[in-house]
Amino acid sequence: MPVFECPTCGKELRVERREDAPYRPFCCRRCKLVDLGRWLDGTYRISEPLSEAVPGTPGSAEPED
Ligand SMILES: [Zn+2]
Repeated sequence: MPVFECPTCGKELRVERREDAPYRPFCCRRCKLVDLGRWLDGTYRISEPLSEAVPGTPGSAEPED
């Protein structure tokens, strides 16, 4: 059974078939979009230093919207 880790939230995922994980290596569409946003953000801010690049900050509440 394939096992992979979501690059965005670090959740470990187990899937029996590839069809079961359409967003792999991400666990869900949300995480995929978040990662994409980071790349785009980095592209536009490539000249700025990373000051708060702390992925997976515990206790951080995600906005509903
Ligand atoms: Zn995830």
